[in-house]
Amino acid sequence: MNSEEFRQRGKEMVDYIADYLDTIEERRVTPAIEPGYLRRLVPDEAPQKPEQWEDIMKDVEDKIMPGVTHWQHPRFHAYFPAGDSYPSLLGEMLGNGLGCIGFSWAASPACTELETIVLDWLGKMVGLPEQFLSFSENSKGGGVIQGSASECVFVSMLAARAHTIRQLKKQHPFVEEGVLLSKMMAYCSKEAHSCVEKAAMMAFVKLRILEPDENQSLRGATLQQVMQEDRAMGLVPFYVETTLGTTSCCSFDNLAEIGPVCEEFGAWLHVDGAYAGSSFICPELRGPMRGIEYASSFNFNPNKFMLTHFDCSLMWVRDRFKLTQALVVDPLYLQHSYSEKSIDYRHWGIPLSRRFRALKIWFVVRSFGIEGLQKYIRDHCRLARRFEAHVRKEPRFEVASPVHLGLVCFRLRGTNDINQKLLSSINASGKLHMVPASLNDKYVIRFCVCRQTATEEDIDYAWEVIRQFATDVQETKPEIIENYSQDPRSPRKTGRTG
Ligand code: PLP
Repeated sequence: MNSEEFRQRGKEMVDYIADYLDTIEERRVTPAIEPGYLRRLVPDEAPQKPEQWEDIMKDVEDKIMPGVTHWQHPRFHAYFPAGDSYPSLLGEMLGNGLGCIGFSWAASPACTELETIVLDWLGKMVGLPEQFLSFSENSKGGGVIQGSASECVFVSMLAARAHTIRQLKKQHPFVEEGVLLSKMMAYCSKEAHSCVEKAAMMAFVKLRILEPDENQSLRGATLQQVMQEDRAMGLVPFYVETTLGTTSCCSFDNLAEIGPVCEEFGAWLHVDGAYAGSSFICPELRGPMRGIEYASSFNFNPNKFMLTHFDCSLMWVRDRFKLTQALVVDPLYLQHSYSEKSIDYRHWGIPLSRRFRALKIWFVVRSFGIEGLQKYIRDHCRLARRFEAHVRKEPRFEVASPVHLGLVCFRLRGTNDINQKLLSSINASGKLHMVPASLNDKYVIRFCVCRQTATEEDIDYAWEVIRQFATDVQETKPEIIENYSQDPRSPRKTGRTG
């Protein structure tokens, strides 16, 4: 393809994407296919000769689209939002168009410098203390873009692990690192994301998973007690992972209580705000951040709740040297003459190569402005409250946990089984898509406001669908029962639905 063709195809592609998003409602939110569907449609071998562009695009519509779950669909209420907006799309496009790889300042100075600047912008926008910012006086902190919240958790754990081993080595110079490692203990709540368990597994450290209170919030006293017990047994509490906005029900661990405990034990405190972090752009939503000044590191994902495409997880540390000490290797071919004066982000994470991701954030923040982003977040909160009001109005349903931000956990009063049936039948219909969670051993259904431009009509429509299916399930209509035990996406209808 030459540049002329690229211009032409580029226009067509933009049209295709715009049409897709404009007419997304005509499609079924989840695909009505079985595993392996694509294998039957696509050749086993790659083509020897170049193929026609038109043929490739035809296959997108005929073969790929039938297997796509439409995360931007107004009927998609599963997980958390997948950040999306036109400025972000165009920022991504430009970043890829430049095609630079910013592993060091010298490798592409603007790539590094814009990353530092937007991380300071965002840090200020969510009200982080100055010590996390790169450009504030006497700060040792700074921010970096990682690929995912899981990476932020893992990297922070590696930094804490390296720091603790260095400290222990000073006290016990002749004890092997492996022996010291075997004494180290990390902590998180039962409600923490599974990426914490995975990080501990990869970092080869022990993890204690603690019970939160009845509101799914990890409390300081619980942590203090287990840390004391562990220390008495000769273990070394070194890392605590907390969550602001848990995956199952968007609950908040109590940082104001946990922070002083971490300080007392000299443990690294990581705060994962993957979804909820963006909401702190609104000052009235910052209550759960009380105690953030105790954090050693903090992350949130604009690719969830800030209209920015995946991948984009922002991570700040209070002491960047503790982070980089765990991750620096410096071969000659990557060194440059400005190393002393600049940031080399390859020392702040796992990969060497890095995309120009700061551009899409810069485009989003400048295009929406802080006020535009606040409006988006407040709209989602308002719509979640509207859904909550629907649930509360109908006595056969209950709201299963306090409602925070754009997420409502609800259930039919009754058994887990009937709720499972309700969700399976709704998902199988392709009319809505939601996922479950388990709260205090109860099966609950998560309803998340996901679409960027979600409306009151979308919420009311979703509630009507849920009510109808609930009635069907309560009356145990046979044609619905048939689908209960199957894959929730199994087709009852094929093709597009209105
Ligand atoms: N932490 C929380 C609180 C989450 O909700 C999620 C995913 O939804 C994650 C971590 C994992 O995020 P990622 O996919 O960016 O690794």
